[in-house]
Amino acid sequence: IPVVALVGRPNVGKSTIFNRLVGDRVSIVEDFPGVTRDRVYATGKWLGNDYRLIDTGGIELDDQPLMKQIRYQAEIAIDEADVIVMLANGQEGLTREDEVIASMLLKTDKPIILAVNKTDNPEQRMDIFDFYALGLGEPHPVSGAHGTGLGDLLDQIVASFPKDLATHYEDTSIKFSFIGRPNVGKSSLVNAVLKEERVIVSNIEGTTREAVDSKFISETGKEMTVIDTAGIRKKGKVYENTEKYSVMRSLAAIDRSDVVCIVLDAETGIRDQDKHVAGYAYEAGKGIIIVVNKWDALKKDNDSFKDFTDKVRSEFRYLNFAPILFVSAKTGQRLDQLSPLIEQIYENRNRRVQSSLLNDVVMDAVATNPTPTDKGRRLKIYYMTQVAVGPPTFVVFVNDAELMHFSYKRFLENQLREVFYFEGTPIHLITRERQ
Ligand code: GDP
Repeated sequence: IPVVALVGRPNVGKSTIFNRLVGDRVSIVEDFPGVTRDRVYATGKWLGNDYRLIDTGGIELDDQPLMKQIRYQAEIAIDEADVIVMLANGQEGLTREDEVIASMLLKTDKPIILAVNKTDNPEQRMDIFDFYALGLGEPHPVSGAHGTGLGDLLDQIVASFPKDLATHYEDTSIKFSFIGRPNVGKSSLVNAVLKEERVIVSNIEGTTREAVDSKFISETGKEMTVIDTAGIRKKGKVYENTEKYSVMRSLAAIDRSDVVCIVLDAETGIRDQDKHVAGYAYEAGKGIIIVVNKWDALKKDNDSFKDFTDKVRSEFRYLNFAPILFVSAKTGQRLDQLSPLIEQIYENRNRRVQSSLLNDVVMDAVATNPTPTDKGRRLKIYYMTQVAVGPPTFVVFVNDAELMHFSYKRFLENQLREVFYFEGTPIHLITRERQ
């Protein structure tokens, strides 16, 4: 889906506009800090068009002088985005920094939209004509404080989405990525996997937005693509070493993946940072494998597997459906199991189940575990049907949605998992009322 980057010098109101554009989406996974609260990357929707928004100002480069930071932001926008929104401040007027940003942006062919913030009243709206001088076309007046002008801005953004975006992604291979902290062994894993497999194309520079993806054929003849997580191969630009940038690129890689391998380091154990991106992959409904790397380096005893497994299960409770694979990129241990597992999860994630079978499961479930009651009313389940794959999504029609308690929903999900074997994929269960 299209990526929109927001650029602008400090104090133009980027984060206010960012929050206005994406709204207050509340995360369903509460136990991963960072990504959602302090957002630089989020999903928005306008007139049925999904898009991703990046706030380049959120990528901190503290020890850099202002002009450099501004240049990096423009570079990030040029590298990452399909559409760039440059934000200026109507109350302060046109500044030197604005001109620097505009001149950098003018070097790209990507569509650029100029928005002038803090234009809260009609007089201020007159002043925005100064901003034509930036050479970016018509300035769009907006107000983050009042929320005005944003609809027009969004119309303009959506109208600028590249028309051929779909063909960029027209590729039926199974896409997966290695996601994790620096030094857990992501690039070693990519290299080790590619060494084992019949590689068709490696290092296809510029496949999508500077990404370096590699395609290979698995044992069973399936085309698979390892999605590049930025920072894996190209480490160079200053901003590539900042944590927020690498998190943001990880999120972009997750978006493009069918299956995400969350890589943990057996030596250093589980850190908070490991949970940020895992939570995002879960919310995005991706297939998930937990890959414990550097298993060779661990001093092991009889309980090592169990101990590490227990730790993973208690730290990543919401990922209890995800298989855990203990590997070594260094020795190649168990890496042969990786692509078959990815294929299996891909299949599970795209499995379609007949309604008649679903309703058999519902009947059995209700027979073994009676539906909850509240104030003399009992939950009645009429019917269940699958409405989507990738991830499998089910709608269950009931008499009163409020009677569907969290624990009962969990129970139904677990029944579906057991009967239809949805290992490695999240499943969504939506409750709908029917009179
Ligand atoms: P990335 O930052 O996640 O891409 O991590 P790298 O692939 O660059 O690996 C970081 C360090 O861990 C390097 O020194 C690797 O040689 C080492 N490393 C990676 N995988 C393994 C492994 O399975 N076993 C051991 N012992 N070391 C590993």
